Amino acid sequence: MTPRRKILISGASIAGPALAFWLNRHGHAVTVVEKAGTLRAGGYPIDVRGTALEVVRRMGILPRLREAHIDLRRLTFLDGDGGQVASIHPHAVSGGVAGRDLEVRRGDLNNALYTAVRDDVEFLFDDSIDTLDQSGRGVDVTFHGGGSRTFDMVIGAEGTHSRTREMLFGPEEQFHRYLGYCFAVFTMPNTFGLSHETVMWNTPGRAAALYAVGDDDEVHAFLNFAQPVPPFDAFPDPEAQRDLVASVFADAGWEVPGMLAAMREADDVFFDAVSQIRMPRWSSGRVALVGDAAYAPSFLSGQGTSLALVGAYMLAGSLADRDHAGGFAAYEDGTREFVTVNQGLVGEGGTTLFPTTAEALEQRNDRLRKLSAIPPAEGRPAHSALTLPEFTPMMTG
Ligand SMILES: Cc1cc2nc3c(=O)[nH]c(=O)nc-3n(C[C@H](O)[C@H](O)[C@H](O)COP(=O)(O)OP(=O)(O)OC[C@H]3O[C@@H](n4cnc5c(N)ncnc54)[C@H](O)[C@@H]3O)c2cc1C
Repeated sequence: MTPRRKILISGASIAGPALAFWLNRHGHAVTVVEKAGTLRAGGYPIDVRGTALEVVRRMGILPRLREAHIDLRRLTFLDGDGGQVASIHPHAVSGGVAGRDLEVRRGDLNNALYTAVRDDVEFLFDDSIDTLDQSGRGVDVTFHGGGSRTFDMVIGAEGTHSRTREMLFGPEEQFHRYLGYCFAVFTMPNTFGLSHETVMWNTPGRAAALYAVGDDDEVHAFLNFAQPVPPFDAFPDPEAQRDLVASVFADAGWEVPGMLAAMREADDVFFDAVSQIRMPRWSSGRVALVGDAAYAPSFLSGQGTSLALVGAYMLAGSLADRDHAGGFAAYEDGTREFVTVNQGLVGEGGTTLFPTTAEALEQRNDRLRKLSAIPPAEGRPAHSALTLPEFTPMMTG
């Protein structure tokens, strides 16, 4: 009989609630703290593929996610003048498998995960960890909203810019692998008549895309651009971010002027560097990291969500019959190779979607024109590179 352990998870997006679900299944007492006041609905589309599909199936939420599947049917590439280069099935570039892999709004997945666990786990919204103090008996935590508690373990599931990671391992720069691009995403009115499709305009080093997730009256606007050095000054300053994007795209054609105007009005602009997180270790003492906080692969891989789901399952299972030290070691042992091959997908093809020279763009366009209209029947091997173990639920006492 192993005693019921108290575990705090920081972050309630994808990795956090998925981990809470599995830790609860294994008999732990789980608290999740999230700095946002509520769950956010909607959001950009994210993918669940390969091994991660088995995680959501074992959680019992696969049917619900199938209903929420977006089913993007077309991806059209345009040249600098707005002329069509190629129109293909999105899976032909993402490596997704039609009828099997899922694409859902981030908010729909977040909600499905939360609903699966909210009755069994304590959620603290609008709060965050202020301090962490590890000792032999546990981790003493003080909360921003006041109060302090002691947990047996703390897990950071706070995304790429995780504060728990910074408190534990130091500044992000050491683990941040900048991939040479920055991007802004925001919603704007769908005045384009787009439905279940993406249209992407490119010139060397610049991409502007409109994602119509359904027949909604909104589209997700996406502006991605090459930037050799990360714009550190812009990260903390939303106005500087908008100015930077506007200057990079100032002479762009197609619908870009309207997108820039919409960006000025939008209240949901999300700006960031395209980067990965690569760490030599994912834990220190009684504190560990999961999802983007530990191993963000960047949206160029399309695998961030799947890594978060698989990592959560593996971490909870690895702790089922071990103490924190053995459990965290087993989690890394069982998961690191899967993470590494999926982070490696970026080198294989992700960046070639956004070429930075005229020659490379022409080569990409040639490849796109030759792609079959029929999407592939098999996904990328990396997506299914891990066979999920069955973990025995822990006996609690
Ligand atoms: C524009 C964009 C497009 C993307 N496209 C795709 C795609 O096509 N396919 C795909 O698979 N992935 C995609 N991703 C990546 C995907 O969103 C992430 O990989 C995935 O959400 C990781 O989940 P996570 O739970 O680890 O982190 P996150 O989703 O980043 O969640 C972190 C959570 O922690 C909370 N938090 C942060 N700091 C604190 C704190 N100090 N205290 C408490 N709470 C905190 C945040 O509010 C948030 O709820 C995309 C990402 C972006 C930004």
